[in-house]
Amino acid sequence: MSFSPSSTAAVAEPASPAPVDSLLASIETDRPDAFVSLGSAFLTRLPAAPLPEPYLVGISADIAAQLGFNAADAQDPAFAELFAGNPAREWPAEKLPYASVYSGHQFGVWAGQLGDGRAIGLGEIEHGGKRLELQLKGAGRTPYSRMGDGRAVLRSSIREYLCSEAMHHLGIPTTRALCVIGSDQPVRRETMETAAVVTRVAPSFVRFGHFEHFYANDRVDELRKLADHVIDRFYPHCRVADDPGDPYLALLNEVTQRTADLMADWQAVGFCHGVMNTDNMSILGLTIDYGPFGFIDGFNANHICNHSDSQGRYAYKMQPQIGYWNLFCLAQALVPLFGPQYDGDNRNEQVIEDAQRVLEGFKDRFAPALERRMRAKLGLAEIREGDDKLVNRLFEVMNANRADFTLTFRNLAKMRKADASGDAPVRDLFLDRAAFDVWANDYRLRLSEETQSDEARASAMNAVNPKYVLRNHLAENAIRLAKEKDFSEVERLARVLRRPFDEQPEFEAYAGLPPDWASDLEVSCSS
Ligand code: AMP
Ligand code: MG
Repeated sequence: MSFSPSSTAAVAEPASPAPVDSLLASIETDRPDAFVSLGSAFLTRLPAAPLPEPYLVGISADIAAQLGFNAADAQDPAFAELFAGNPAREWPAEKLPYASVYSGHQFGVWAGQLGDGRAIGLGEIEHGGKRLELQLKGAGRTPYSRMGDGRAVLRSSIREYLCSEAMHHLGIPTTRALCVIGSDQPVRRETMETAAVVTRVAPSFVRFGHFEHFYANDRVDELRKLADHVIDRFYPHCRVADDPGDPYLALLNEVTQRTADLMADWQAVGFCHGVMNTDNMSILGLTIDYGPFGFIDGFNANHICNHSDSQGRYAYKMQPQIGYWNLFCLAQALVPLFGPQYDGDNRNEQVIEDAQRVLEGFKDRFAPALERRMRAKLGLAEIREGDDKLVNRLFEVMNANRADFTLTFRNLAKMRKADASGDAPVRDLFLDRAAFDVWANDYRLRLSEETQSDEARASAMNAVNPKYVLRNHLAENAIRLAKEKDFSEVERLARVLRRPFDEQPEFEAYAGLPPDWASDLEVSCSS
């Protein structure tokens, strides 16, 4: 052994813990107001089942920073080990991960108990005044796995990682993703694939289905405990606001409003979730559980992104009303908690009336929320009668022509008030040019009532109409390379999607129409 100055220094100074060790140390599982502290009626504590020989596929520097560490430290093999479910040492007993139990309605039918069948909570990290919970998706079987293998495949993990980050940068509430870790361990789906784990991050992973679970099992004490946890941590104003007698009704109101906004966000960018079961609905109004999702290319209001959804229950145009339906399920589950201010014979009637009134608020929120977004997408700063018809007619022409959703809105900004000199980029997306021209003339007339200049309108429109979205074929290109262990495209695509509204001339190809092969891509629930 050579005696070098550096080794002397290493002996002289006590070494600070390796970054990955301090990352593990920063994960907390014992705070009394954490989800994990709700106890055994809500979750089972268990170690993850680590993947062999894990490797880093992608990491979000933004989320790493939010968790208080440097993405460069993820190059340490111990990082991949930890986020494949295998900490360098045994899971310390007090830090044992956990899987939660929930139930839900799947495709409109009561499915009974489900739960985190392949998601394992690690605990929370508090950094910079923010508390975030971390969850490994695909880290092995749990008591809620039913027939499943507890795994997720590389394909779906990359899709979830890319899309949750992309949605965030579109300004849409979502769970985030820290990283994807891959392994060569085979996993059987329709074909043989390989396993991966995506680390999701959110303030909370509580779903509508968590409430449905305790309601269905007639466990009102636990139901109340869960509702109190969610209110205290995330909606504390529900205890003091308008309706001091009924914090649970106030909670339903908050979730209703947030879900309405989320539906408006999805519709406005042409995002289809694909599996809007009540167990995939976040109590915080976040987009959660990315499976067979898709951004619409050629517009079709009936677009179904989930190959397994033969009835089109979760088709694009259905999403808002499904969101509303799911809120009914949540309301039903909360009924036992409502109405402490009433007693007597007509308590139930009053409680149902209250809940219905709150749910009605969905419509009052959703319609104007979507209208506002559509007005901004068309660059209409002022409000005029007939604007809604103008929007609807645009969707009709887009629908008839299968015009590309993202490019239509992006290219609308190039139209000019005075003449048709800027029409071509959007007009060329419509096979029936004459039909487009009829609409465009009305739009131009409407624009002439706007006081702002073409330039000002265009820059306002470009700030709300993304140029880059995670089209299926872009994800597919990144996945194909990643299967060959080339992760550069995952990184590049993540980088492009971090600035969806900016012109990025070097990445023009990422904004183009999908290639012909993209129409054969099928995305199913199998992930
Ligand atoms: P999803 O449709 O992905 O939201 O999943 C519905 C339910 O099935 C949830 O309880 C999941 O945890 C569970 N699940 C899905 N895939 C698997 C799997 N491969 N192993 C175990 N459980 C799974
Ligand atoms: Mg799910």
